[in-house]
Amino acid sequence: MNVYADNAATTVVSQTALQAMLPCFTEQYGNPSSVHETGRKAAQALDAARARIAELLRAEAKEIYFTSGGTEADNWAVQIALASGAKKNKRHIVSTAFEHHAILHTLKKAEKNGAEVTLLDVHTDGLARVEEVAAAIREDTALVTVMYANNEIGTLQPIAEIGKLCREKGVPFHTDAVQAMGHVPVDVAAQNIDMLSLTAHKFHGPKGAGLLYCRGGIPVPVFMEGGAQERGKRGGTENVPAIVGMAAALEEACRNMDEDNLRVSRLRDKLIDAVSSIPLSRLNGDRRRRLPGIANFVFEGIEGEGLLLLLDMAGISASSGSACTSGSLDPSHVLLAIGLPHEVAHGSLRLSLSALNTEEEVDYIIKTLPPIVERLRGMSPVWERIKKGA
Ligand SMILES: *Cc1c(COP(=O)(O)O)cnc(C)c1O
Repeated sequence: MNVYADNAATTVVSQTALQAMLPCFTEQYGNPSSVHETGRKAAQALDAARARIAELLRAEAKEIYFTSGGTEADNWAVQIALASGAKKNKRHIVSTAFEHHAILHTLKKAEKNGAEVTLLDVHTDGLARVEEVAAAIREDTALVTVMYANNEIGTLQPIAEIGKLCREKGVPFHTDAVQAMGHVPVDVAAQNIDMLSLTAHKFHGPKGAGLLYCRGGIPVPVFMEGGAQERGKRGGTENVPAIVGMAAALEEACRNMDEDNLRVSRLRDKLIDAVSSIPLSRLNGDRRRRLPGIANFVFEGIEGEGLLLLLDMAGISASSGSACTSGSLDPSHVLLAIGLPHEVAHGSLRLSLSALNTEEEVDYIIKTLPPIVERLRGMSPVWERIKKGA
């Protein structure tokens, strides 16, 4: 059996999105900037996609800037806030230690260029605290950026509360909503979100299309010099097929959200119940306040990499939170940020489901995982020590 349980990394393109995209390759293949009929057809498809997506976000079409994905949108959002802030001598940014690297590395670079960054620790429940965001905001704060849902452990952050706080304090608020969009309701107006990043390939759209929502009234500096695309802020011929696919995928995801969430969260909970019953294992992050599809576990005494390898051999595609850098295995910065000790953070496993996963697949994971954990522990000198200590 083959089970794809790595939907937080990327998702399969839905049939709806694929069918919407195909004419853009064959009939509406024109350049939206061209004046002729073929170009106009492409421009119409682009306009329709922008209008539809704006509606789904409760935003306006002119507040949507298409990008190549979430990483680009995150980079752009920080740049916008720093440019606005610089005019008022504001160079301080508040964020959290468990953001995606698209934010963390962008903030590192901003620091090198004179910005000051406060990274808030996250609690063991995987949630940032509004009070701590409030305490970190200063006179010179140019931006608060907190992710909507964490991509490794799936916890949902108090976005509406942080949005309200930032609005009251007059500080621009950005959220990386890449994991949340299409999976939980997002409303930039009601939640007081000033800027938001999303990417199509996390909700069954194609790779290479995403967007930055930027509230009207916030000055947007040119991000990419070139043609007049994206109101002159990001030059370059638009990726029309992918953008059209993104709109179709988002529309479908939002339409089916309630029904899908019910089913997927039930499968997730079944998985959590079964996996948590493995001795010396645990679920990372709050059990309730999480995305319907993501569950992240640690198993004491083993390495996540070994676990992934054996799962892969059994036909299960999953992920560990850890990144393998230059031969040394670094534990996930997310798990360290929520306070896990180094040695425990090494044994992590992320299982991320989508609406396409079936109960049979989840049952297969539940049957396959425990013997693999046992087998790896049987080979682990660390596990021997843990057992003796216990
Ligand atoms: C996947 C992801 C990104 C990056 O999106 P790309 O489109 O791959 O650049 C950014 N933030 C989060 C939270 C993600 O999960």
